[in-house]
Amino acid sequence: MTLAFECKMCGHCCKGKGGIILTSKDRSRLAEHLKISPEELIEKYTEKINGKIRLICGEDDYCIFFSEGCSVHPGRPDICRAWPFFRGNLIDETSWEMIQEYCPGVEAKAGHKEFVRQGKEYIKQEGLRQHDPDIAPNALITDPE
Ligand code: SF4
Ligand code: SF4
Repeated sequence: MTLAFECKMCGHCCKGKGGIILTSKDRSRLAEHLKISPEELIEKYTEKINGKIRLICGEDDYCIFFSEGCSVHPGRPDICRAWPFFRGNLIDETSWEMIQEYCPGVEAKAGHKEFVRQGKEYIKQEGLRQHDPDIAPNALITDPE
């Protein structure tokens, strides 16, 4: 079996403002990892855009926790855990083809069908489905299959 994804640690997915939305579960886990309170986490490391709490970036436009890789890896948010198995990439083969330019960890040879199979299995195992569409990132899948 060809692995459909294996992170190459290039950091592309950690660059860009506003994309990392934190659910309350994410905030508790990340705060615990940093040994601070969720309130302190919100004050120091997040901003609210369109009603959702998001991680801020540094001046280099990388996530505030990016430093030659994820410096909070065990405590990282669900959306970081779910990439590249986002809903759009699972339902749309063209999106999956397009992300191969951006994410060198996505293995084209595996094919989209296998990407979907492995992705759904991973998302299920890790409990990464969207639970509340009002607060959770839209990129997480909602269908139970
Ligand atoms: S873009 Fe892909 S290969 Fe690069 S760090 Fe992110 S997940 Fe890993
Ligand atoms: S929390 Fe870690 S994995 Fe997520 S964007 Fe920031 S540096 Fe990248």
